[in-house]
Amino acid sequence: MGEFDLIARYFQRPTSRAVLGIGDDCALLQPAAGMQLAVSSDMLVEGRHFFADVDPSTLGHKALAVNLSDLAACGAHPLAFTLALALPRVDEAWLAAFSRGLFALADEHGCELVGGDTTRGPLNICITVFGEVPRGQALLRSGARAGDDIYVSGTLGEARLALEALRGDIRLPTAWMAATRARLEQPTPRVALGLALRGIASAAIDVSDGLLGDLGHILRASRVGARIDTAIAVDLLAGDGAEPMGNSLLHHEARLACVLAGGDDYELAFTAPVSARAEVEAAALEARTTVTCIGRIENAPGLRLVDAAGQPVSGNFAAFDHFA
Ligand code: ADP
Ligand code: MG
Repeated sequence: MGEFDLIARYFQRPTSRAVLGIGDDCALLQPAAGMQLAVSSDMLVEGRHFFADVDPSTLGHKALAVNLSDLAACGAHPLAFTLALALPRVDEAWLAAFSRGLFALADEHGCELVGGDTTRGPLNICITVFGEVPRGQALLRSGARAGDDIYVSGTLGEARLALEALRGDIRLPTAWMAATRARLEQPTPRVALGLALRGIASAAIDVSDGLLGDLGHILRASRVGARIDTAIAVDLLAGDGAEPMGNSLLHHEARLACVLAGGDDYELAFTAPVSARAEVEAAALEARTTVTCIGRIENAPGLRLVDAAGQPVSGNFAAFDHFA
């Protein structure tokens, strides 16, 4: 099968929102009047971002999900995406499963594949997403102010647990393995929450590299600091669908490390003024996504971790690597 047959069979579908989709030199998009285009790219590389034997349908899902997560963090509505694909060979079963997973998520969000590039090479997937947001209303990293609450959506740390288990570094009970693996391989981009937070959140980012690191981007961009209540944050690992964990399995510090520095979570971390608490709750309800307030923005630069009694918590969570 040649390059163009491959595109036609697995990736070309009729579009309705794009003015022009796959087949010409460029796709044509028409943002609605008063809208700004939000654009972001994310690349997934075999060995670096996924295991070679990963289920291709979940890989299709994840490749788009990590991009939609960036739109969510900006409060942008997904419109379209392009797909640049390097494939070592034409494997039709792989392509069929990959495109099934990809389009299932794309359809959920009404996000259309409008173009891309296909070449032979080590497996590599690069997606660029296009979204729209009313002029001036995009959620940015730079708007956090001293006194704002700090929130995180959903749960954190499960993807890291699954990764450690898949590497053979820890063992998880079967049901928990399945739940955490789904979080690693099929993350849910918080698009509805991002949209609902427009005009409410003062700053936002999606958590891809670990909470502390990503929150650090907000702090730097906003020229502020923060205090995080680790007694609340640690429970972000035990929430939503995850099996309750026995303390014998994972001690407090390991759980905290997963939450604070796990990575691959694709939740939203955001800030909002204390006066907007009811609006944040309403936005979370509307988006059917839990949100948890884990701390407070402060004027003093830097990130301070405290326990339930307000005492400093030490630990080099950024360098977290193992569970020992
Ligand atoms: P060009 O040579 O002008 O870059 P190509 O021959 O690479 O165009 O691609 C032909 C058409 O197929 C273009 O519209 C391009 O956007 C689209 N396309 C190529 N690869 C992909 C892909 N993996 N997914 C979606 N569309 C693709
Ligand atoms: Mg090309």
